[in-house]
Amino acid sequence: MSGYHSPQVDVPVRLNTNESPFPPPTDWVKSIGAIAESIDWNRYPDRAATELCEAIARRHGVAPEQVFVANGSNEVIQTILLAYGGHGRIVATFEPTYQMYAQIAHVTGAEVVEGERRADLTLDPIEIERVVARHQPAVTFLCNPNNPTGLVEPRENLEALLEVASGIVVVDEAYAEFSDWSAMELVSEDKPIAVTRTFSKTLSMAALRVGYVVGPTWLINDLRIAALPYHLDSFKQAATIAALQYTKEMEERVEFIKAQRARLEAEMRSLDLEVWTSGSNFVLFRSSAHDAKTLWSAVLAQGVLVRDCSSWPRLEGCLRVTVGTESENTAFLAALRASLPA
Ligand code: PMP
Repeated sequence: MSGYHSPQVDVPVRLNTNESPFPPPTDWVKSIGAIAESIDWNRYPDRAATELCEAIARRHGVAPEQVFVANGSNEVIQTILLAYGGHGRIVATFEPTYQMYAQIAHVTGAEVVEGERRADLTLDPIEIERVVARHQPAVTFLCNPNNPTGLVEPRENLEALLEVASGIVVVDEAYAEFSDWSAMELVSEDKPIAVTRTFSKTLSMAALRVGYVVGPTWLINDLRIAALPYHLDSFKQAATIAALQYTKEMEERVEFIKAQRARLEAEMRSLDLEVWTSGSNFVLFRSSAHDAKTLWSAVLAQGVLVRDCSSWPRLEGCLRVTVGTESENTAFLAALRASLPA
């Protein structure tokens, strides 16, 4: 196996990993010292992260027993696959999608089956039914909105999947705040659905490494069995509880990102690029007239790093740009314009 890599280059404008372009609220950053001083450092953390689960549960109007928190949503996904993947089990994805589902599933020894999308990268519910009926996956992943396409998954597709699902359905909502609907409302005790979220994107705290999942109590209990004891340190629990006071402020930034996304999409279309309409904080695009690697290098030479997806299966010719600050987006558009010979 090879690992998952997101190449980093030291450039002035980094629009390659879908982070928030803004730092977290200053008041939260200033409170970090006092939070650190309040920790009983000689004691193990609250293993169940009780207070944090309560705070997250309040945010979504669910019970604390329906919440499991881990070190980023990647660790949430890993814990789900430790509980429900593994040797002899099948994990289903619909490609192209976030690569860590297959990567972690393989690490646990599970077999991965890949459902296909249409040529325009949307997903046909008939394909969902085919994959589930044929393979009876223990875990099926849907990413809403999908990374790397940015496309919002229609609610009907998730409903079709829940109708036929043989195992757990994981809806990865790392980018949900930028979309017009969320599967969170479908979570209930009698459905095998788990919805994952992260503090890394809208909440501007990728460095803190916090993600969580909301699902039925029995599923959350299984995750608690699979997780290591004390996997979530005391400081992180307290810092995340404090961060939850600022969610309103963070969510106000979503409107700004969405307006900048519309600007990027419109300007890229005016440059004759193929652009997938995004419900996320990034945009996938392709030039029919220019080689993707040449274009990526030309944009990079002007100090702007985007993600080169062109070697990924089914994404020939594609690049992906994260929505940045207004000036970062201006720099990207200028670099792009200069890199597309007339
Ligand atoms: N899911 C998706 C779809 C993502 O794009 C990412 C980050 N690139 C993650 C999960 C992981 O996020 P984190 O571990 O930072 O919460």
